[in-house]
Amino acid sequence: MAQGNQHSGIEALGEVRGRIVLVRSDLNVPLDGPAEARVITDDGRVRASVPTIRQLADAGARVVVTAHLGRPKGAPDPAYSLAPVARRLGELLGKPVAFATDTVGESAKETVAGLEDGAVAVLENVRFNPGETSKDDAERGAFADRLAALGDAFVSDGFGVVHRKQASVYDVAQRLPHAMGGLVAAEVDVLRRLTEDPARPYVVVLGGSKVSDKLAVIDNLLDKADELLVGGGMVFTFLAALGHEVGRSLLEEDQVDACRSYLDRAGRSGVPIVLPSDIVVAAEVSAEAETQVVAADAIPADRLGLDIGPESAERFAERIRRGRTVFWNGPMGVFELDPFAAGTRAVAQALTEVDGLSVVGGGDSAAAVRKLGFAEDAFGHISTGGGASLEYLEGKQLPGLAVLD
Ligand code: ADP
Ligand code: MG
Repeated sequence: MAQGNQHSGIEALGEVRGRIVLVRSDLNVPLDGPAEARVITDDGRVRASVPTIRQLADAGARVVVTAHLGRPKGAPDPAYSLAPVARRLGELLGKPVAFATDTVGESAKETVAGLEDGAVAVLENVRFNPGETSKDDAERGAFADRLAALGDAFVSDGFGVVHRKQASVYDVAQRLPHAMGGLVAAEVDVLRRLTEDPARPYVVVLGGSKVSDKLAVIDNLLDKADELLVGGGMVFTFLAALGHEVGRSLLEEDQVDACRSYLDRAGRSGVPIVLPSDIVVAAEVSAEAETQVVAADAIPADRLGLDIGPESAERFAERIRRGRTVFWNGPMGVFELDPFAAGTRAVAQALTEVDGLSVVGGGDSAAAVRKLGFAEDAFGHISTGGGASLEYLEGKQLPGLAVLD
């Protein structure tokens, strides 16, 4: 996890004692259980948010944390309440955290007014307000006006959302004196090292479920990396592009041509796209399913591919260990179920053995390394933002960063 605030720009705000500082954090954690008794299954993002909040509180600011959780439809929905997350934040900070049951309404105003110097409050899920994610500048701006009216300054610390042009990320920064938080600064620092003169060999490992999300980054990395290893659910669209049968595996038909063109380009450019040679298949996605290892070009028609096979895992691990810069996004298989976790475990293990910079990006990938029992400090960096880091690596300008310049 990104650590420390040594690169933080919070000092740019000057004296914060007694001032109300809005902090946009990324507290979008996975939850389980019924709406009235939600349990956080991975609190990594809450823990990553603590240093900046603590730094501000220790400096005497009245800290008001804004964040989203999941994708509610622009209206209050108890299943997406930040209340359990605010409680967890309080436990991690070791002090009470006030909670406002609305975003910019009476509860928010009262909660903020009741803060003493050094105290912390969390506002309810900003996505309970339709203005947060609106594509209409005026509607988004109106919500940002009300958020900004609650505070004296703004700190952007939610790296997982800096690629979003949303009210609490982008518009509010235009309305208040603002600064970059330590977490965002640390993330940007690492991404810069991945894009500017990375130590070689530079190995990129991509997996996860959606090819279409990750094609743009492949496009850019084919010019920058030395090799691309592909696993996870996205493998099958590549295998289909080679003309192989993929059975009932995940397949994005409309991306097959794009995958074929990347494979062609990789062949010409000398930056190989390495695909698995064997695949773990089963008849259903279940922890009890009987599994079988088959050649990647011989997936039975009635089976689904749910992990890379042992031979591929070893081959990937070897290539990763040789890397001096390694970026990994997306699990190699359905790691949530034990029978399909071995590929992801092997890749994660190899990243811990890299002599150089190893970076894990992606919400599920980060959750996977924690679930599989790896120590966070075994990696060079675990990014809190999958989409944001991919867009950065694609070479895109991220609105939430641009607005801070
Ligand atoms: P990240 O959040 O790290 O960017 P993604 O969201 O792209 O990763 O993908 C994570 C999901 O991909 C996991 O829930 C995992 O179960 C799924 N996945 C990995 N391999 C497969 C596969 N072979 N078939 C179906 N789903 C897969
Ligand atoms: Mg994900």
